[in-house]
Amino acid sequence: MSYVSEIIDEVIAKNPGEKEFHQAVREVLETLEPVIEANPAYQKNGLLERLTEPERVIMFRVPWVDDSGKVRVNKGYRVQFNNAIGPYKGGIRLHPSVNLGIIKFLGFEQIFKNSLTGLPIGGGKGGSDFDPKGKSDREVMAFCQSFMTELFKYIGADRDVPAGDIGTGAREIGYLYGQYKRLNGNYEGVLTGKGLTYGGSLARKEATGYGLVYITEELLKDKGDDIKGKTVAVSGAGNVAIYAVEKATQLGAKVVTMSDSTGWIYDKNGIDLAAVKEIKEVKRGRIKEYLNYHPEAQYSEEERVWSVKCDVALPCATQNELLLEHAKMLVANGCKVVAEGANMPSTPDAVDYIKANGLYFLPGKAANAGGVATSALEMTQNSERLSWTFEEVDAKLKEIMVNIYAKISAAAKEFGHPDDFVMGANIAGFKKVADAMMAQGIV
Ligand code: NDP
Repeated sequence: MSYVSEIIDEVIAKNPGEKEFHQAVREVLETLEPVIEANPAYQKNGLLERLTEPERVIMFRVPWVDDSGKVRVNKGYRVQFNNAIGPYKGGIRLHPSVNLGIIKFLGFEQIFKNSLTGLPIGGGKGGSDFDPKGKSDREVMAFCQSFMTELFKYIGADRDVPAGDIGTGAREIGYLYGQYKRLNGNYEGVLTGKGLTYGGSLARKEATGYGLVYITEELLKDKGDDIKGKTVAVSGAGNVAIYAVEKATQLGAKVVTMSDSTGWIYDKNGIDLAAVKEIKEVKRGRIKEYLNYHPEAQYSEEERVWSVKCDVALPCATQNELLLEHAKMLVANGCKVVAEGANMPSTPDAVDYIKANGLYFLPGKAANAGGVATSALEMTQNSERLSWTFEEVDAKLKEIMVNIYAKISAAAKEFGHPDDFVMGANIAGFKKVADAMMAQGIV
């Protein structure tokens, strides 16, 4: 049995029930096989055993009081996975589905994604099974204050710098930051995604979605094509989805779908993003309300956005939202590119099918790395006590995404699988972390 297979089996046996974590580890390690075999020192130094075991897992109780006076208790998590190349960095997910396995999968992915950005950031992730949906601002604040009252002991500007993710937007980051400062007393860049009046970076909010479109544009250019004129299907209607739609539209593509966890819309004339922003960013409403603005559009709770004919598919909602049956629809409808805005939105059999049928596939750890890269730029601005302009940050973001594309396509070519960007991203992300771990001894 190969070293890689041995470790995959060991991870499954040692972490029972954590199926998303198993899926992420398998997906990464299987593609690393040629690099691992070429470097026997990795096995001798237990590199994969160490890489798949988080450096620290913090789990805690989060008690808070709701508006009716009832005491509620949620689970809080922070997984500090790997700090070989920089302080732990990764978002906080607030969603009822959150469990340890999901946070570990996200933290593991984050190691390679952060490495691909070329910036000095390690991998981590956190979250809670708290659901901000339907809660009052006061309830969200009570939860965030309680969450940070425990978390603040473990984070810091040079130690661990959390950010937003599903359910954690500007409001939640504000409450978390306020409580951190109150407990710790330091005005430091301990969280990213902050508001612009207290240390946030211009273009951070837009960065993941914009970055996704920049790397997709780069791929298309490399293949002698253009995003201009393409029909695009987007899933989700949150932070990533909204700014992916914005940039794709600016570059001349037509985005025809968006969704939330209840249903999805199809607008053959192109999504009216001002309406979506009002529904989602201002009213915190449901995507169905789009029909109030555009009665001619269609809304459905059956099937998913992937049943629509498109050239480019951008899954931007959550993990395992694009299944094999959806991959088949995309292929049958002539789709050319699938680029992941969300983390691991496509199931392994869907990815295999997409690649086997000649579509280009950009995995999340490369395609959505613009968010964390811009978070690292926010950290730099905080350390410098400076604020860069939107144009400066956006230009750096674009350069980072173009570089990521160059790195992953070079790694894929080097290992004899040109255009296998899954392999390219895993190998390119892994090498820097592995070298740093080898240099730092058995820690
Ligand atoms: P948001 O909370 O802003 O939006 C998430 C969107 O996805 C919402 O439309 C939500 O619908 C939908 N969604 C969430 N969970 C589910 C589910 N279980 N089933 C169906 N739809 C669902 O999150 P983000 O946009 O920030 O994040 C989206 C994805 O991108 C996640 O995978 C995240 O990890 C990833 N990502 C985010 C980055 C960032 O900078 N924000 C950076 C890199 C990756 P509803 O409102 O109905 O729940």
